[in-house]
Amino acid sequence: MNKSRPVIAYFSMEIGLEPRMPTYSGGLGILAGDTVKAAADLKVPLVGVTLLHRKGYFYQRLDAQGWQTEEPVAWVPADFLMELPARAVVQVEGRAVQIRAWVAEITGSGGFLVLVYFLDTDLPENSDWDRSLTGTLYGGDAHYRLCQEVVLGIGGVRMLRALGYKRVARYHMNEGHAAFLGIELLDEAARRAGRETFTREDVDEVKLQCVFTTHTPVPAGHDKFEMSLVDRVLDRREVRDMQDLFCAEGMLNMTHLALNLSHYVNGVAKSHGVVARQMFANYTIDAITNGVHGGTWAAESLAALYDRTIPGWRLDNYSLRYALSIPREQIWEAHDEAKRQLLRMVNRETNAGMDTDTFTLGFARRVTAYKRPGLLFSDLERLARIGSGRLQIIFAGKAHPNDQEGKETIHQIFQFAEQLRGRVTVAFLAHYDMDIARMMVSGVDLWLNTPEPPMEASGTSGMKAALNGVPSLSVLDGWWIEGWIEGITGWAIGSLPGVRKSREPDDAASLYAQLEQTILPLYYDDRDRYVDVMRHCIALNGSFFNTHRMLQQYVLKAYFE
Ligand SMILES: *Cc1c(COP(=O)(O)O)cnc(C)c1O
Repeated sequence: MNKSRPVIAYFSMEIGLEPRMPTYSGGLGILAGDTVKAAADLKVPLVGVTLLHRKGYFYQRLDAQGWQTEEPVAWVPADFLMELPARAVVQVEGRAVQIRAWVAEITGSGGFLVLVYFLDTDLPENSDWDRSLTGTLYGGDAHYRLCQEVVLGIGGVRMLRALGYKRVARYHMNEGHAAFLGIELLDEAARRAGRETFTREDVDEVKLQCVFTTHTPVPAGHDKFEMSLVDRVLDRREVRDMQDLFCAEGMLNMTHLALNLSHYVNGVAKSHGVVARQMFANYTIDAITNGVHGGTWAAESLAALYDRTIPGWRLDNYSLRYALSIPREQIWEAHDEAKRQLLRMVNRETNAGMDTDTFTLGFARRVTAYKRPGLLFSDLERLARIGSGRLQIIFAGKAHPNDQEGKETIHQIFQFAEQLRGRVTVAFLAHYDMDIARMMVSGVDLWLNTPEPPMEASGTSGMKAALNGVPSLSVLDGWWIEGWIEGITGWAIGSLPGVRKSREPDDAASLYAQLEQTILPLYYDDRDRYVDVMRHCIALNGSFFNTHRMLQQYVLKAYFE
């Protein structure tokens, strides 16, 4: 890449580029990876900045009762990344912490190259503690996280300078974790003005450079730090002098900082924009709905079908619109092949004995309370009546190591599976990752999504399913409000927000009714119409909920406006 041309610097605590690189935990990281890949396809001059996460987001083991244990992921960065000689230094608790960078080269479908830099403090010059800072994603306590964010934000900007990036048109903060990049930019602005410390005068200049995407209404997604901790780690008087810029309710608040330092802020779906505007009433907040990267998430059999029928779709995901003219049999055949592959893997891993003729429902995501993974099992007898001999279910997901409730949920799902044995087969796949995700979203017949509204800002796994012609049965939250046409692209659980009173028993009843009265009969008794729904998923939703469309909106609204 020509480093004298202006670039977009895209900062994210996690970036998921490929399954064997455990540098992501879930949707946020996958989105970042899919964004970078779209930039490579569309020839958008963008560079990614993230942390190396040498121990990865954990390796999940499940025992026979479904109890999760975690291990560091053993991976070798040099297998995927090239080490660079450049060094940057940041101050942490008064110590100079040395940072090196590794680079991943992402080649777009047209040959354009986008680089992603992984920051790494595991250098012999650093203390053991400092060496561990780029080790574990979302591990450790607030102190550890704060130090990591100093490395990501301040270290990231300094590394870009060390690498020779002179002109950065925009700094895009993918979530608030990277907001300390603003401190470095304020320092740079102050130095340009001949001052030693930054002041309010520098804020407007920095704002022009920054873009912020907020990703979740869930409080744990917004980092806050005690001021005593901030004083100790950062030791910057300006933070206390300019509390209105940095703090909310007496704590340093990364979301608040990112909001205050950005000229463009967005949520990740239309409905999330509304929620974010309520949460942060004093700011102008737009919405750009997330997407997924077509080439990454289409299963082999579906990708081969698109290559045959819609040549050029990899460079232009919009053209999936033309899936409308793919004959039904071809869509069904490609799906059947993806389903075979999935079930072969499921049977090998879990000995579930699933078969291809049975309607198969999939649910996989981070196991966390608001996603309500247990909703499907609210009434086991009803589920057994509806599904006996006609339904099989595949689950996957990791609970965060500190989330005891999440771990108990996985254990419970194992118990439900036991209780349903002989009537409805339920398999739980361990170690949900990008590989398993791609097989599941393409190989099941229906993708289930049951978050508690309005907590799911967007959700992307249902978009991956749509890209593969797999319809969603989903609560009307996040992206589904935009992608849902009842009976055409999938089915709703419950009613629209505003209309709905969030009541769990109603949602469960609605889920069961949809399966029993509409979806299973359609699948078994009117296969042509089921495949029509599949085709609409590709043509209407696959063509739109992709990162090609998404990145073009960022270019128009946030990057080069
Ligand atoms: C896509 C994906 C996610 C995010 O899915 P959501 O539906 O947004 O929760 C999480 N983990 C993996 C491995 C994925 O592939």
